[in-house]
Amino acid sequence: MEKIAILCSGGDVSGMNPALKRFVEYSYAKGMQPFFVYNGYEGLIDNTISIANYQDVAGIMIRGGTKIRSARSARFSEASYRAIAAENLRQKGISKLVVLGGDGSFRGMERFHDETGIAFCGIPSTIDNDINGTDYCLGVDTALNVIKNAIDSIRDTASSFRRAFVIETMGRDCGYLALVSAITSGAEVCLIPEIPIDIHEYKGCFESQIRNGRDYFIAIVSEGLKNAQEVSQWFEEELGFESRVSVLGHIQRGGNPSVYDRLMAYQFVTHAIDTLLKGNNNSVVCYTKSHFEFKSISEVALNPYHLDQALLTLGREQFAPSHCQM
Ligand code: ADP
Repeated sequence: MEKIAILCSGGDVSGMNPALKRFVEYSYAKGMQPFFVYNGYEGLIDNTISIANYQDVAGIMIRGGTKIRSARSARFSEASYRAIAAENLRQKGISKLVVLGGDGSFRGMERFHDETGIAFCGIPSTIDNDINGTDYCLGVDTALNVIKNAIDSIRDTASSFRRAFVIETMGRDCGYLALVSAITSGAEVCLIPEIPIDIHEYKGCFESQIRNGRDYFIAIVSEGLKNAQEVSQWFEEELGFESRVSVLGHIQRGGNPSVYDRLMAYQFVTHAIDTLLKGNNNSVVCYTKSHFEFKSISEVALNPYHLDQALLTLGREQFAPSHCQM
């Protein structure tokens, strides 16, 4: 019986557990023995690798995070530890690996593959949605829904207290989460690295809005800009509006996986296993223009991600100070 393993590496996302469930079910359906590697690349080195059964994945569809845990591993960057990891897999007869992770994890896997010949397929998994070559990364939809709920709740208190709320979303240097959240929550301000806006340019427009009865502001800022405090101060000092900063933080990574992430998890894993069975032994499953396709690590991990132009245009139309409605 052919043996195949799965691991989660780097930041966890909601959707990993549905992916594990599909992995176990589909591996058995294809006549393979599935294995779980616990604790990411650390687990490959420490040999925390065990057979996965149907019981292991019972009831996990609704849970965020990952049952097999994720990790970052400094040791995996060293060739000597990667050799130990390869030996652990060989001893169990595992020659195929599915990796749920980000571009860093894929770079590590490519090295591992080059050195050992162990086949792998990557599934882009990060709430930041910042991996080149794929329009969608597992976990993004759940994160967006968590952010939506948070902003909707904050809006209730903002309007009750006549306040400005500056809400910082995750995303590292990528403004995707902030931009989509700002558009879909009806925020007044969206500040992301990809659309440079000077907050001072809103002054005249916002003063006029306040005169016309506006009693709260919602500003979404991306963590990459590191300016939430500064923007909050601007509301207080320039507009005389009491202001609070709310850093959403790690709540964005967790939560009950959305329907979309469950479905994407199933499709990503199905494609990953199918391509490994076809002998494609060093690729990442990407989702672009509503299709799944396989790309090389170099295309995915060595090039920077650029936010979709149509989304950026929408963002500019919505949030440019020159378009601010008095
Ligand atoms: P992500 O996969 O979310 O981008 P990281 O960049 O933290 O997360 O990478 C996850 C892990 O992948 C690292 O802890 C390390 O073990 C491994 N890794 C990343 N880059 C390399 C590399 N160039 N060589 C070997 N291993 C790497």
